[in-house]
Amino acid sequence: MERITMLGTGHAMVFDCFNTCFVYENENGKMLVDTGGGGQLLGQMRKAGIDDWDISAVYVSHRHTDHIMGLPWLFRGLGRDRKLKLYFHEDVMRVATGMMELLFPDTMESLPEGVEFITVRDGDTAEILGRHVEFMDLHSPNVPQFGFKLTLEDGGAMVFHGDVPFHEANRERITGAEWLLHEAFNLSTEKMGPPPGGKGGPPPMGKGGPGGPPPGGKGPGHSTVKQAASYARSLRVKNLLLFHGSDNDIQNRKAAYTAEARTEFDGPIYVPDDLEVIDLT
Ligand SMILES: [Zn+2]
Repeated sequence: MERITMLGTGHAMVFDCFNTCFVYENENGKMLVDTGGGGQLLGQMRKAGIDDWDISAVYVSHRHTDHIMGLPWLFRGLGRDRKLKLYFHEDVMRVATGMMELLFPDTMESLPEGVEFITVRDGDTAEILGRHVEFMDLHSPNVPQFGFKLTLEDGGAMVFHGDVPFHEANRERITGAEWLLHEAFNLSTEKMGPPPGGKGGPPPMGKGGPGGPPPGGKGPGHSTVKQAASYARSLRVKNLLLFHGSDNDIQNRKAAYTAEARTEFDGPIYVPDDLEVIDLT
C-alpha cells in the first residue's frame, strides 16, 4: 500500500479549495508534504480521516505562506511523546524555526525528544518511512525551493516538484520517473488578472480581470498546464499529476486541465480535487 491523499490542490489565492499539500503514506507511516496556508490543514486532515498525530515526517518545499503556514497548527499543543521529523532546506529552516520560536517559545526551548529538525541540501538523501529520498534544488526563479525524489516500493520514482516549472538542471534526476507531481497554475488559454497589489499572479477572487497579461499568461515563476505536460513528455515520465491549480472554474477544472495536458502528454494524467486519494503502486 502506497498512496497519497491530496489535502489541498490549489495555488496561494484559492477560495474554493485548499492550498496544495498532501499526505504520502506507506506501510511504515505518513509524511505531510507542504502544509497549506493555515489551520484549515487540520480540518482537511479530519475530513480525510487522518489523525495529525500519525504524521511522523514533514517536508516543506519553500517559505511562501500557502506552503508553510499550516506548520504552527502541527506545533500547537505538541505533546512530550510526539514523534516528528521535519526536513527543511536552509531557507525554510530559518523561517520555520524563527516562526516557531516566536509563537511557541517554551516548546522550542525544550523540544520533545522525538521532534527533530533536519536541514537538507541539494543531493542529500534520507531514509523516510523506509524509503530512499533524494532532495533536489528546483532552481526557483523566486524564493529558494526544493523538491524530492522518493523511491517507491516497486522501485519506481515519485518526484515532488513543488510549485515552480521544471529546470534543466534536474533533467537526469527526473527522466523516466513513475510519477511526476508538477504544478499547473492555469490553462494556457486562461486570462490572468492582476494580483492584489502585486505584479502578475492570480486575480484576487479567482475571476480573472482587466489589465492582466493576455491569454496564455501565467503567474510569475509558474507554469501552465500545457507547459507542465510538455515537460512530462520530454522527461518521459509515466504518470503526470497536476496540482497547485486555480479555482476559477473548479467544477470543470479536472476535465479542462486533463484535456489541455492531453494535447502534450500521452500517459495517465491526474488532476485531483481536494481529498482525492491516489494509489501510487
Ligand atoms: Zn504555492
